[in-house]
Amino acid sequence: MRWLGLDLGGTNIKSVVVQTDGEPVVVGCDTSETGARDGPAAVVERLASAGHAAIDRWGPVDGCGVGVPGTFDSDAGTIELFPNLPGPWRGQPMVEPLRVALDLPVSIINDARAFTLAESRIGAAAGASTAACFVLGTGIGGGVVVDGRLHFGPHGRAGELAHQIVVRDGPPCGCGNRGCVEAVASSRALAALAGQPTIEDVFRAAATGDQRAADAIETVADHLGVAIANVITMLVPERVVIGGGVAGAGADLLEPIRRAVARHTVLVPPDWYEIVPAALGPYAGAIGAALWSFDSQPEVANRARSAASGGTQLAGDRPVKPDRSPGGGLRRSLRPPHPPP
Ligand SMILES: [Zn+2]
Repeated sequence: MRWLGLDLGGTNIKSVVVQTDGEPVVVGCDTSETGARDGPAAVVERLASAGHAAIDRWGPVDGCGVGVPGTFDSDAGTIELFPNLPGPWRGQPMVEPLRVALDLPVSIINDARAFTLAESRIGAAAGASTAACFVLGTGIGGGVVVDGRLHFGPHGRAGELAHQIVVRDGPPCGCGNRGCVEAVASSRALAALAGQPTIEDVFRAAATGDQRAADAIETVADHLGVAIANVITMLVPERVVIGGGVAGAGADLLEPIRRAVARHTVLVPPDWYEIVPAALGPYAGAIGAALWSFDSQPEVANRARSAASGGTQLAGDRPVKPDRSPGGGLRRSLRPPHPPP
């Protein structure tokens, strides 16, 4: 069985095909431009084109998952809010046009929840019963896994870790609220606080002794530390995964975050949890979207399994989870076969 995963970002659309027979593997992955300024309808067409291109190269596939950067109505298959993408997205159909264009069942998931699903099943949080993920970038995404399952919630709305308020009456957030951790700790907020054009410049300046940049990193790490400490206190996750573009700063950011979390976490001993970098790289969201397609469409998975096994009756089966036994072979096998461009 093969599943198409599409990850819609502000700049790029990432596509992968994941095979889930036996040990899951990424069969192929690719990146194309979103062209967000052309508006919602053009972007949906580009998603379909990216899907077609992936299927032509690595298909056929049994279903498609699409990861989107915001909230949606999962019954109607329409978008509600994309805080970081231009254009009138509210009410834009997403599932139906992709279903028609690709002639496939299509499942929709928030991109950070897709990231969480991938990292929890086959990445940095594999084997952890309870985990939380933060995706640090232009915005901040989040997701939680409880008792080994992605906590999806109504319309996939559960796990918005970035929109917990860490500064009462703080700066406005893209979600419409004020003082969310996204509003004060995104890459944009960090660059503005440090007085630098990009976050790469922030970390470069801090490394060469720029006090304003160093202070900005400490401040942002402290906001993130409060948010992560809140999640640790509520859920007691075994692992907290930090991913996304900002996490590319590595230890320069991870260490201040770890110190801040330790400062703000009182009830959970530090040896109960780990704060770890993401493992799957830039295609994690697309891989998670493909896995969500597999997870959320058990009847499709059953049909495909039944056809492959010569008609064996499998109706009522639950979706098969990939083997999460120790050793990491599964994790390695899901790494994209070539580095992204
Ligand atoms: Zn918010």
